[in-house]
Amino acid sequence: MDLEYKQEDIRFREEVRQFFQEHLPKELSEKVRNRRHLKREDAVRWHKILAGKGWIAPGWPVKYGGTGWSAMQRHIWAEEYALAYAPPTLSFGLNLLAPVLLGFASEEQKQHFLPRIYNAEDWWCQGYSEPGAGSDLAALQTRAVREGEHYIVNGQKTWTTLGQHADWIFCLVRTSTEGARQTGISFLLIDMKTPGITVRPIIMLDETHEVNEVFFDNVKVPVANLIGEENKGWTYAKYLLGHERTGIAAIGNSKRELKVLKRLAKRKQLDGRPLLDDPCFAARIADTEIELMALEMTALSLVADGASSKIGPEASMLKIKGTEISQEISQLLLEAAGPAGQAFDPQYLKGEKEHCASGDDDLAALAAHYFNLRKITIFGGSNEVQRNVISKMILGL
Ligand SMILES: Cc1cc2nc3c(=O)[nH]c(=O)nc-3n(C[C@H](O)[C@H](O)[C@H](O)COP(=O)(O)OP(=O)(O)OC[C@H]3O[C@@H](n4cnc5c(N)ncnc54)[C@H](O)[C@@H]3O)c2cc1C
Repeated sequence: MDLEYKQEDIRFREEVRQFFQEHLPKELSEKVRNRRHLKREDAVRWHKILAGKGWIAPGWPVKYGGTGWSAMQRHIWAEEYALAYAPPTLSFGLNLLAPVLLGFASEEQKQHFLPRIYNAEDWWCQGYSEPGAGSDLAALQTRAVREGEHYIVNGQKTWTTLGQHADWIFCLVRTSTEGARQTGISFLLIDMKTPGITVRPIIMLDETHEVNEVFFDNVKVPVANLIGEENKGWTYAKYLLGHERTGIAAIGNSKRELKVLKRLAKRKQLDGRPLLDDPCFAARIADTEIELMALEMTALSLVADGASSKIGPEASMLKIKGTEISQEISQLLLEAAGPAGQAFDPQYLKGEKEHCASGDDDLAALAAHYFNLRKITIFGGSNEVQRNVISKMILGL
């Protein structure tokens, strides 16, 4: 395993940095830096800039618009992306659905959907979870009954992230009730404009509209929108989840946030001393940094072994550790900010006014950020469930 950066990697990092300096709109990076809410048009604008450069889908095969970068280059890209405060890309289409399409869809489906994802023509959302099916996803009950060349879909999805913006939803639906629960599930693409679909917002504690309930009432979906084989959807679903979990580890983001934390901990508190002078607090930062370095080494060794796209216990390991570290940093940030970090100014966060009430624009979202990050140990399969996955795959328990 060779973890040294090669000359070409160093040159690549420079090229990426320069691109961000020249092409990432300042107003977008400032929004990300101050943790303010991004709008649909912000996300689409940035997506199109990356697509124009040919860098929107690094993990895809070159034939469909991928960059052909090595795994190490992709790692560097992700790190520089976070450091530049670039807005997140439209992940549901690019990073979750696309691998499933590439692996299991017909050539016709690939030719139709992949370019539309690439060019931000379709905004996708994920229809996996249901009120009675989260960790136990195979309990899902949304039914798709075949009638000629259509499926008739009835049921409900929940926690559908950004479904209010979506043009399409990829859904797990039940097409059979015979045999094991996993063998009666199919993977269906549904146009959100189809009659019978209702999207109802779930408003979060911090007043954001991030998640939704989606209801299907006799929704008519062409059989041509089935991915792969009927009743084989569980295989595709698990494949997709592996990609989701690896992405949630967010190592680049944590490295960036750790820098912010160290800067903040050097600021003087009300008693005139910086929190970094407190040996206990300094030790907590050091512990977190060591954990993060260990996580990065693990991720890099997977990259070096060419195993970064392997969907196994590695994805669960990265998810657990990455999310725990992100949460710990958010806790330390809040403590380091002191009273200024307690501010909550939703109008500022939503972009309805230029500056926050407290005057500390960079700290105004820390509390909301702290609470919002509680979700990351839940979604993409909760961390408790990831521990079960690891024990099953490695220990055979
Ligand atoms: C902010 C947010 C966004 C989301 N976005 C989406 C989305 O876009 N699309 C989508 O389909 N889903 C989405 N989800 C849903 C997410 O995947 C589920 O919340 C998650 O899988 C957990 O399911 P649940 O909420 O039903 O909790 P439950 O499954 O009811 O779990 C409750 C608790 O019990 C624990 N638990 C359950 N089973 C076990 C077990 N076997 N062993 C040990 N502990 C266990 C869990 O860890 C958890 O702590 C989102 C969730 C959140 C919070």
